[in-house]
Amino acid sequence: MALPRMELRELGNTGLKLSCVGFGASPLGNVFGPVPLEEAIGCVRRAFDLGVNFFDTSPYYGRTLSEKILGKCLKALQVPRSEYIVSTKCGRYGDGFDFSAERVTRSIDESLERLQLDYVDILQCHDIEFGSLDQIVSETLPALVKLKEAGKIRFIGITGLPLDIFTYVLDRVPPGMVDVILSYCHYGINDNALKDLIPYLKGKGVGIISASPLAMGILTDAGPPEWHPASPELKAACQAAAAHCKSKGKNISKLSLQYSLSNQDISTVLVGMNSVKQVEENVAAAVELATTGIDREMLSEVEAILKPVKNQSWPSGIRQT
Ligand code: NAD
Repeated sequence: MALPRMELRELGNTGLKLSCVGFGASPLGNVFGPVPLEEAIGCVRRAFDLGVNFFDTSPYYGRTLSEKILGKCLKALQVPRSEYIVSTKCGRYGDGFDFSAERVTRSIDESLERLQLDYVDILQCHDIEFGSLDQIVSETLPALVKLKEAGKIRFIGITGLPLDIFTYVLDRVPPGMVDVILSYCHYGINDNALKDLIPYLKGKGVGIISASPLAMGILTDAGPPEWHPASPELKAACQAAAAHCKSKGKNISKLSLQYSLSNQDISTVLVGMNSVKQVEENVAAAVELATTGIDREMLSEVEAILKPVKNQSWPSGIRQT
């Protein structure tokens, strides 16, 4: 199936141009069920061929499995390193959190080995609400600056669920120290709380990555994985929205992804994909949005169903003092 190339968007002040749909590689760590290596290689190949140039992983996903598999998939592409952009993370691991300078400095070497790369484009402190934000400011980020100087990473990011972690850190670091933030589950049909933060982030010149447009699987026909932290009420509302779309011959995942993609201030929307079919569907959704726009009627019907749970989130992290 031949599709037009996907739109590229600038990421803050980095000079990077990211495909508007990014490849979230957490499923390659078997987070949403087993993915055979051949299927993973096929997904990454198809995504790249269709214009996806951004791949995001973490040592946390599948206890390092996602990084190892993504490394194999990228190698199998057999294209110059400059043709794809890779982001990984530090500070969150299968056995817990450690944002110390020593650990994150060791972490990047381990990640590069698993990914079979000489450098990553972006290294992000993973889910900083689980650490001390003051340590992130005074110790972790300065350690990442040294990694940047050493050429192991090109840009620095922070990720997490609560939105106030971003302002806390960005208000306390020198301008330009943090190049990008990754927010998840806050720019979808059920929750678009990230919207209010966008002017602040743009003012700081910080690039915006939005992840989990399908709210980690609750906005899909298959429904969420068993570990999903949403309340039963939120899960039920999303499943009702999915069923409503299906009854009209429409697809909730397509509508949700298109909703997330429709804000041009978001440089890339990271979707977790574990089959060639999903890759093709998600790229097709982006291309359709750019050519014919979103289905406004269906969107307002789904928004009405989700209104009672609008911007409902779940607790994440430790209490900061
Ligand atoms: P998501 O909202 O992208 O949902 C992924 C789920 O949706 C998977 O089960 C996948 O199989 C399914 N899916 C994908 N396309 C589909 C389609 N067309 N039809 C039906 N189902 C489809 O959630 P996610 O994977 O958690 O998030 C995407 C990526 O963002 C992650 O892989 C990761 O790279 C990144 N992320 C980062 C953080 C963080 O840094 N704290 C948090 C969440 C996500």
